[in-house]
Amino acid sequence: DRRVVIVGAGMAGVQTAVALREQGWQGGVTLLGAEPHPPYDRPPLSKAVLLGKAEGSAFEVDFASLGIDLELGREVTGLRAGEHVVDTAAGPVPYDVLVIATGAHPVLLPGSEDVPGVHLLRTLDDALRLRPVLAGQVDVVAVGAGWIGAEFATAAREAGCRVTVVEAADRPLAGALPAEVAAYMAAWYADSGARLLTGARVAAVEPGAVVLADGTRLPAGAVVVGIGARPATAWLAGSGIELAPDRSVATDARLKTSLPDVYAVGDCASFPSARYGERLLVHHWDNALQGPRTVAGHIVHGAAEDALYDPVPYFWSEQFGRFVQYAGHHGDADELVWRGDPAGAAWTVCWLRGDVLVALLAVGRPRDLAQGRKLIERGAALDRAKAANASVPLKSA
Ligand code: FAD
Repeated sequence: DRRVVIVGAGMAGVQTAVALREQGWQGGVTLLGAEPHPPYDRPPLSKAVLLGKAEGSAFEVDFASLGIDLELGREVTGLRAGEHVVDTAAGPVPYDVLVIATGAHPVLLPGSEDVPGVHLLRTLDDALRLRPVLAGQVDVVAVGAGWIGAEFATAAREAGCRVTVVEAADRPLAGALPAEVAAYMAAWYADSGARLLTGARVAAVEPGAVVLADGTRLPAGAVVVGIGARPATAWLAGSGIELAPDRSVATDARLKTSLPDVYAVGDCASFPSARYGERLLVHHWDNALQGPRTVAGHIVHGAAEDALYDPVPYFWSEQFGRFVQYAGHHGDADELVWRGDPAGAAWTVCWLRGDVLVALLAVGRPRDLAQGRKLIERGAALDRAKAANASVPLKSA
């Protein structure tokens, strides 16, 4: 009986286990997760769970009836590929096929690690610790105006906290969006009553306050650090597995790693995208849903499976009362085409490379997103003038 061992019981690990059964895997499946909680979904943590509108976000998967051996509270500490085993404190676990799905860890703010009242927002425990803080309506400071910072600020405002968001760059989402686009999103903070300080560097975090490099002291009953996440791959040190410069597990287009019988998927792995001509590390939910299907297909069907993993990346964010969706992947040189008034409630921006749509950001326009995503998948050309007319559907030239 051949056994697939999956390390990491988040979205990607759970989906891999489920997809193996869906695709007919008859052998054993073991799912090892470091966290003590039944596997859960992360997006609600910065939304409904944080606000206490949902108790939790456990996946509705009946592991036992699917024949999946779920072992929680079991952290994997090493990989010995020659012997086909992974190590845990309770002893080694042998595998025939291994899937690495350990996700990502949030980046810590240097010097803030041991200060009381400093939080991260990655795990269910993080969200449950933050819930009473928000309910107490204290002054909160979020460090980082990325996706997590924006969603946290949204929830904290809704809970009635005074919110200041400190961002080192000159705009929110500087790593993801160009200045022309992000400028409109900066206004959302003020509209919601949150204060956004851009170009602001944290000099020190003290109990009860954040001190900026210019000497400003921000009172902080709680501090939430949202400055990015890095692949959780430290446990692979010494395994001989190939990592990319960003420390993600470097896979091929089948999501196979450099080691025999070892795959990697989700937030911990990067893959070569022929579509975009570069290696992609995607930290979004849809990638942790789609990648596992490719992995399961290769495990179940072996050489008969020829599907390569080359998705159009997709994600969404709910911030400041808006539904924000992005599909594709753009570069600095791509041309922007606006659909609708970005100062208004609903608008879309398209990125064109030559005449071809390569990415779009839709704010409150889910239909644009759905249509645009299909056009991107097809590599379709767009007529600029028609694309700029928000009252007609997006379609190819
Ligand atoms: P993870 O979800 O990180 O799961 C990995 C699991 O592996 C963890 O449970 C971890 O404990 C475990 N693990 C790690 N190391 C080991 C080890 N050595 N041994 C055993 N287990 C280990 N994406 C969107 O597209 N839209 C959103 O709105 C959105 N909202 C989000 C909100 C929050 C607060 C967060 C944190 C993320 C959000 N995301 C969102 C991103 C999305 O949740 C992630 O891309 C997705 O969870 C990745 O799944 P994963 O399984 O690869 O990694």
